[in-house]
Amino acid sequence: MQTEIINKLYWTGDLTDEELKQLIENRTEEDFALLSQKARSRCDEEYGNKVYMRGLIEFSSYCKNDCLYCGLRRSNRNAERYRLSKEDILNCCENGYRLGFRTFVLQGGEDAFYSDDLFCEIIEGIKKKFPDTAVTLSLGERSRESFKGLFDAGADRYLLRHETADSEHYGRLHPKELTLEHRMECLKTLKEIGYQTGCGFMVGSPYQTVDCIVKDLRFIKEFQPQMVGIGPFIPHKDTPFKEEKAGTLELTLFLLSVIRLLLPKVLLPATTALGTIDPTGREKGIKAGANVVMPNLSPVGVRKKYSLYDNKICTGEEAAECVECLRRRMQSAGGELVVDRGDSRIAVNKVL
Ligand code: SAH
Repeated sequence: MQTEIINKLYWTGDLTDEELKQLIENRTEEDFALLSQKARSRCDEEYGNKVYMRGLIEFSSYCKNDCLYCGLRRSNRNAERYRLSKEDILNCCENGYRLGFRTFVLQGGEDAFYSDDLFCEIIEGIKKKFPDTAVTLSLGERSRESFKGLFDAGADRYLLRHETADSEHYGRLHPKELTLEHRMECLKTLKEIGYQTGCGFMVGSPYQTVDCIVKDLRFIKEFQPQMVGIGPFIPHKDTPFKEEKAGTLELTLFLLSVIRLLLPKVLLPATTALGTIDPTGREKGIKAGANVVMPNLSPVGVRKKYSLYDNKICTGEEAAECVECLRRRMQSAGGELVVDRGDSRIAVNKVL
């Protein structure tokens, strides 16, 4: 059993690349039992048993990109496309505010229909109506000017998963127009502007090796993001990866615990993808050291159309039902769903 290495990770918050590789390659159930217990107690020290909720508003299923893993890729002719208007989005927020959400996450494909001006109007609209909420953006790659304009309009946070920190692996998951270099450049810019920034990756994406994962963990440790999103890769039937295997619950939970110990203060969601590969995946994620959940606030009529991967959960229920269901689920995992913006305890150091 790897007690020594796990204790070192717990006490120092870091390991060498070699040790990380060893920990992952030789992991056993007993290792995970110890690791997850340490990760959960680290999380309790920083945030208690609070679980922060973010209302996810999936505003557009149009995308100009062609990522090989994603069901929204532009070459997917079977994808049903939709866009939410500013009014639709504000209605989602109103519903969400009433249910206790104090963070709204706008996520969508890279859809040029939404100009910077339109996004600014939407952000200003949300902030004016709900001044005690945080706005998180997950809009993909944009220019520095655009990131800055949206920040000045009031956006607080930005999620941009790096997807993999290995450039060769990145090239096998994406069309050639997309590069790891540019992805990283965007992440750096977001941080410089002053966003609370989130990166992350899929667990078990095609061609991922343990060395890739070690690079991901090293990047995360060095970049010091306020948020990290990881979830299992799940194949989508209308993508080139339709025959590939999904990432596992076991490895995802193990890595959630490692990330909690590498970055004790990080905001770490138990993702919808985790809840999709296992009926109690999100509860298990909380027990492994996660402290965020991101239920869907999108109008029920469009939910099935935001299809990143197959069999996504919670596409039928109203948001209110989802919150009640999640509250019970979190309680069963010892977590308490709270009404709170849930800002990071990692300081934001603006460079500009
Ligand atoms: N267009 C935005 C939002 C992308 S969707 C952007 O580029 O950032 C959010 C995340 O879903 C992606 O970053 C990716 O990591 C994840 N995702 C996409 N397809 C997936 C799949 N098949 N299985 C699991 N996660 C997937």
